[in-house]
Amino acid sequence: MRLITGVAMTVVLLGACKDEQKTYEENDVLINNIDKSAKPGDDFFKYANGAWLKKNPIPAAYSAWSIFNLVQEDLRNKMLKINEEAMKANAAKGSNTQKIGDFYYSGMDTVNIEKLGLSPLKGQLAKIDAIHDTKSLVDEFADLLTIGVNTPIGAYAGQDERNSEKIMLQLYQTGIGLPNRDYYFKNDEHTAAVRNDYQQKHLPALFKFLGNNDDAAKKAAGQTYNLEKFLADSSRTLENLRDPYHNYNKMPLVGLSKLSPLVDWKTTFNNAYYEKVDSVIVGQPEYLRAVNTALTKFSLDDWKNYLRKNLLEEFSPYLNKTVADENFRFYGTVISGRKEQLPRWKRVLDIEENVMGEVLGQIFVKEYFPEKTKKRYEDMVEAVRTSFKEHIDKLDWMSAATKKRAYEKLAKVYPKVGYPDHWRDYSGLDIDKQKYVQNIMNSAKFDRKFNASKLGKPVDRTEWGMTPQTYNAYYNPSNNEIVLPAAIFTVPGTADDKIDDAVVYGYGAASTIGHEITHGFDDEGRQFDEKGNLKPWWTPQDSAKFTSRADMLVKQFNGYQVNDLHVNGKATLGENIADLGGIVIGLDAFKKTKQYKEGKTINGLTPIQRYFLGYSLGWLGHSRKETISNQILTDVHSPNFLRVNGPFSDVPEFYEAFGIKKGDKMWIDPDKRVKIW
Ligand SMILES: [Zn+2]
Repeated sequence: MRLITGVAMTVVLLGACKDEQKTYEENDVLINNIDKSAKPGDDFFKYANGAWLKKNPIPAAYSAWSIFNLVQEDLRNKMLKINEEAMKANAAKGSNTQKIGDFYYSGMDTVNIEKLGLSPLKGQLAKIDAIHDTKSLVDEFADLLTIGVNTPIGAYAGQDERNSEKIMLQLYQTGIGLPNRDYYFKNDEHTAAVRNDYQQKHLPALFKFLGNNDDAAKKAAGQTYNLEKFLADSSRTLENLRDPYHNYNKMPLVGLSKLSPLVDWKTTFNNAYYEKVDSVIVGQPEYLRAVNTALTKFSLDDWKNYLRKNLLEEFSPYLNKTVADENFRFYGTVISGRKEQLPRWKRVLDIEENVMGEVLGQIFVKEYFPEKTKKRYEDMVEAVRTSFKEHIDKLDWMSAATKKRAYEKLAKVYPKVGYPDHWRDYSGLDIDKQKYVQNIMNSAKFDRKFNASKLGKPVDRTEWGMTPQTYNAYYNPSNNEIVLPAAIFTVPGTADDKIDDAVVYGYGAASTIGHEITHGFDDEGRQFDEKGNLKPWWTPQDSAKFTSRADMLVKQFNGYQVNDLHVNGKATLGENIADLGGIVIGLDAFKKTKQYKEGKTINGLTPIQRYFLGYSLGWLGHSRKETISNQILTDVHSPNFLRVNGPFSDVPEFYEAFGIKKGDKMWIDPDKRVKIW
C-alpha cells in the first residue's frame, strides 16, 4: 500500500526569487489544507486541516497520520539509502558505518531470526530458572534492568531537582505491563477491552511461547496479572506524578532499606552498574514499600513467571514472526487500533534510531538544517524571549518582587537549536550482523553504563535528550533550557525560506519555541528557579493568583470529552498552559515583523489569520479512536484538535481574526477566558 499520495516531501532549498509575494502564494502550505465547509468558530481545527484530513486517511499500518509522519517518512527514505550503502561498504569493524550496516542487516535477516527462535533469550531464561530465594530474585531484577527489561525496580542517574549541579540516582514506580496504572482499574469501553484481552489472550499466548501448555499458561497469566495489579494499585496517577515536591524524597541508603528491607540496595545498584551510591531520590516511597510487600506476598514461582514474561515482552518485536505478530496484535491493534504491521525495513530503522540516534543525526542535519535555518530559529528564540518579557511587564496580577525573579529566570533560559555541539561517542557499542536481539541488548547495556557513569561527575550541560531528527522538543527545568531539534521546524514539501513569517511564527515561534519557554513558567516549571533548582521564588500571593488562573484552565479542559473519556484537566495542565502561553507570546513577537505591519493578504488570508493557521499546521493530523483513548489515559498532552481549539478559545485576537460570535461552539464568555502569561 502506498502510504502517502501527492505529497512532495523532499526539502529543497531554492535560490531567492524575484517576486516573493508570488512565491509565497505558490508555495502556500496552508491553503490546500483548509476545509471551507467547516465554520472556524465551531471547530477551528477542522477548518484549518479538514481538507488535508479528508485526502489523507490513516494508512492501515499506523495509529495516527500527521505532519509528524510526513517528516518521519521522508527521514526513513533517506535513512534507507544510508543503511543500504553502509551494508555494501565493507567498513572496518567498530566504525559507525559498520554499525549502521550490520545493525540493519541483522534486523532484515529474517531467515536467521526465524532459525534462532527464542534462543537469543536462553541465557537470561536460565538465570531466571535459577532464582531460588529473595536475594537471587532481586539480583535478577538488577541484571534485567541493564538490558532494558521491565522489573519492579526503576532507576536512573539524573540531576538532583534541588541541586541541579549534582547527579543523583533516582528511583521511580514501574513494573507493570499495561501502559499505565489506570488500565488495571478503569471501566470505560477502551480500557476494559484492553484489560480483558491482556488477561485472556495476550498473557496466555506469551506463556505458551515460553513452553507452557494451555492450563499452565492460563494459570501463569493469572498470577502475573495479580502481581502487576498489586504494583499498579500502589502506583500514583498521571496527575499525581506532576507535583515535583510530592515526588522528591531524598534519603540515605538506610532510609531506602526501611522502605524495602528485603532488598539489598547496595548490591542491587552495583549489579546495575551504579557504584558508590550512598543516597538516592525516591519518587514514590509507598511504591517501594509495596514492592517489599510483594516480595513476600507472591511466591518465587509467580515472580519467575512475571520476569520470563517481561523478558519475552521486551524482545518480542525483534524475535521470530509468530512472537512478533502477537506483540503487534496486542500493542498495535488492541491498544492503538492499527490494522497491519509496518514494513519490516521501517521497523528496523525505527529501532536503529533508538540504538544509535546521534550517528544518524549527524547525517540528517547535514542535509536538512543549513546554517541559515539554524540562525533563523536562534533569532526567533530571542524574539520570543523579548515578547515574553513584555508580557511579564504587563501582567496585572503579578507583584514587582515576583516579576524581578521571573525576568531573571527568563533571561537565563538556555536555547539549544538544531543539533548538539558535541556528538555522543558510540565506540563502546558492539554490533554483530548475525545477532539482532543481542545488538539491542548491547545497546541497552551501553546506554545503562553511560547513564551510570554520570554519578559523581559534573553535569554535562551540552548533552541532548533528543536526537536532531526527532519531531519534538522539550524544556528541561534542571538546566533551565529549551531543546529544539532540527526536525521540529521542518514543513514537509517546502523549503524553510519559502514560508512566510506568519506561518513560521505560528508553527515555530508559538507551538514550539513559545511553548517550551512557557514550560519554565507552567504549574510545574514555575517551581524551579533560574538555576534549575526546585526552590520557591514566588510570593505566596502571586502563587495563589497563578493557581486560580490555572484552575480555570483545568476546568476548561475537564469539560472536553473524547470517545467516552473526559480529558484530564489536571494531568494536561502544564501542556495546556504552555500551548496557551506559546500562542499569545508568539503572536506578539509576530506583530513586530514586516509582514504583520504591511498587512497584505496571501491567498486571501490576512497575516494574523495565517499565524493561527500556521500554529494549527503543527497539529495537522488524526489518530485512531483507540489511540486517542490511550492518549487520554497515559499522556500529559491533550489530543491534537484540543491543542488548537482549546487555547484558541481563550485568545481575543483569534475571535477578531475569524469573526467568532457568541453562539459559535468555540465561544467562551470573555470573563471565563483564561489568561496566564
Ligand atoms: Zn510541552
